[in-house]
Amino acid sequence: MSAGTGRHCLVLGAGIVGACCAWRLVEAGFRVTLADRGLPGQATSFGNAAGISPSQVVPFSYPGVWKKVPGWLRDPLGPLTIRWRDLPWTGPWLWRFLRAGTAEGVQRASRAQAALMHRVPGDWDELLAATGLQDLLRPRGAITVYERPEQLETDRWIYELETELGFPWKLLDPDELHDLAPALRLDGGAALYLPSWRHTVNPGRLGAAIADDAIARGVHWLQDEALEVTARPDGVEARFASAGARTFDALVLAAGPWSNRFAARLDHAVPMTPKRGYHTTIADSGVSLDLPVISGTRSFVITPLETGLRLAGTAEFARLDAAPDYRRAKALVGHARRYLPGLTATGVTEWMGQRPMMADSVPVISVSPRHRNVFYAFGHGHYGLTQGPTTARLITALMRGEPPALDLAPYRIDRFG
Ligand SMILES: Cc1cc2nc3c(=O)[nH]c(=O)nc-3n(C[C@H](O)[C@H](O)[C@H](O)COP(=O)(O)OP(=O)(O)OC[C@H]3O[C@@H](n4cnc5c(N)ncnc54)[C@H](O)[C@@H]3O)c2cc1C
Repeated sequence: MSAGTGRHCLVLGAGIVGACCAWRLVEAGFRVTLADRGLPGQATSFGNAAGISPSQVVPFSYPGVWKKVPGWLRDPLGPLTIRWRDLPWTGPWLWRFLRAGTAEGVQRASRAQAALMHRVPGDWDELLAATGLQDLLRPRGAITVYERPEQLETDRWIYELETELGFPWKLLDPDELHDLAPALRLDGGAALYLPSWRHTVNPGRLGAAIADDAIARGVHWLQDEALEVTARPDGVEARFASAGARTFDALVLAAGPWSNRFAARLDHAVPMTPKRGYHTTIADSGVSLDLPVISGTRSFVITPLETGLRLAGTAEFARLDAAPDYRRAKALVGHARRYLPGLTATGVTEWMGQRPMMADSVPVISVSPRHRNVFYAFGHGHYGLTQGPTTARLITALMRGEPPALDLAPYRIDRFG
């Protein structure tokens, strides 16, 4: 495909990644249908921790990570849970995840993520300026706290690698910490400031507003469930539950954690698994924060939203269709009280979402090796909100046949062999 004009493309999935792709493709002259069984931005992209977090480039699997796992698993409501009965389903992914964590794998993944992350601020700025949605983002940075200084020392190599790759941070003394977040209590411990972070005040509203803007620019919205997608020499055919069979010139698969079923039929399955996370959002928390606070000790984030204070995070490995365990969401309130002693929990909502997590922690942004009209935009793991606009720009360049702004080999769907 050499240019956008007139070509009709299906973007399957209207999460933050699909909404951004639809927006950029219609701007580039494509005819676009954006399809989702739900409403835009209301699945995984609804309940995340709301952080635009360019500095987070280091993968989750690294040498020695397995040594931490038993400690994490000991607390059933701690940072990590594996549902043992689902192990036959999640086990192969966990094995590939651990195998990806070599020193060389860490370097490769961190560099691939850094190349994307350096483009994130500019791509978000451009999208926000064009859509008039600047009010939804706050450029305040973020704070990471550790309850004991030696916990920071264990993770120090991560921050040093981030600095080497262009994302500096700053150690905060107690006065600086107090100035940035007066409500926060940290007795001893260590705190860092991450200047590259921004946060949105409402990730669900942001995704929906980008989709609305794309629809206002001419994107056709189809609320329907895609049952099957088949590639043809001249395009793709999608079969929907209500609309039946529809043909398109091209497909962008942006179905988040549900993408693998389609990828497996079109090319081959990739090592992606749903890494579940939970949130509790407290409408009336009784505390005031200006910026996100990340607990490096307990692996969750406290973010001030327009709807209240959101506590989000934790990792749970289970089947895609397993029932949520909302005790994990409730436990976040107790964790947050350690840092925010004044926290009240009035007007609470709980949520579970599934991060589309690749074994190497790097997303798939790729043309299909088999079908020239099939494009992949999924697997963003912890950073789909952060990387949505950048993914959209790269996918659009690929579809227009333009030279991409960076080498896309690290994000190819066939990189796993
Ligand atoms: C607890 C938690 C905290 C997080 N914090 C952050 C953060 O601070 N910053 C950050 O950048 N990221 C964060 N993330 C990750 C981020 O939320 C995801 O990476 C991102 O939402 C993925 O977006 P997506 O568009 O790929 O998927 P989704 O938002 O899941 O969208 C996929 C869409 O595809 C649709 N779909 C699937 N199958 C079909 C079908 N057959 N037919 C029709 N439609 C279909 C779904 O309905 C859905 O709307 C967090 C995630 C969690 C769980």
